[in-house]
Amino acid sequence: MQLLLAEDEQKTVEYLTKGLREDGHAVDAVGDGADALALALSNEFDAIILDVMLPSLDGWEVLKRLRGAGRATPVLFLTARDHVEDRVRGFDLGANDYLIKPFAFAELLARLRNLARLPKATVESGLVAVGDLEIDPLRHRVFRAGQALQLTSKEYALLLLLARNKGRVMSRTVIAEAIWGMFHDQQSNAVDALVRRLRTKLDTPFESALLHAIRGTGYVLDA
Ligand code: CA
Repeated sequence: MQLLLAEDEQKTVEYLTKGLREDGHAVDAVGDGADALALALSNEFDAIILDVMLPSLDGWEVLKRLRGAGRATPVLFLTARDHVEDRVRGFDLGANDYLIKPFAFAELLARLRNLARLPKATVESGLVAVGDLEIDPLRHRVFRAGQALQLTSKEYALLLLLARNKGRVMSRTVIAEAIWGMFHDQQSNAVDALVRRLRTKLDTPFESALLHAIRGTGYVLDA
């Protein structure tokens, strides 16, 4: 993959660049938000690894301007923040995935492989659709069969995560990291409870189910 790495912490840059090149990727590294945006607009990268806290333009602003310019390059956010609102904000702006620092390099590689498989169309339109479900991330609204659903911020974050990964099984670990920022054993139950609450609003009132449990693995959203 042709990758753009936007990160201002020199040690992380060296470590990631070395590891990614060893894995066979071409990496352009920049330590500044404005440089990242300029490079992203003038090149076709397969994916951008984007740190949130960057000098000149932060990662959110870079992503906002990139999407504003109609560019659909998949973006993986790197964030040290562990608040669900921050990740929801990233997704709202069109981020495809994120990793909470510190992270395992193997996980970064796995996430990048997933991003490379993303169909481009799901990235290009602002709306995220799965069957008769439609999510409008800019207005924070969710519709199923034309009917508005009222979700809590955690239910919304879970739904958006699953919808942006439509058809892919998400493990409880990945879901727990996405919603709470970290995985603890007891969060397996919290994930299941959150899924149940989401299902009650998303699937129970309708004829067909979109949210499916994959025994022993996790959850998937698919029509
Ligand atoms: Ca930083």
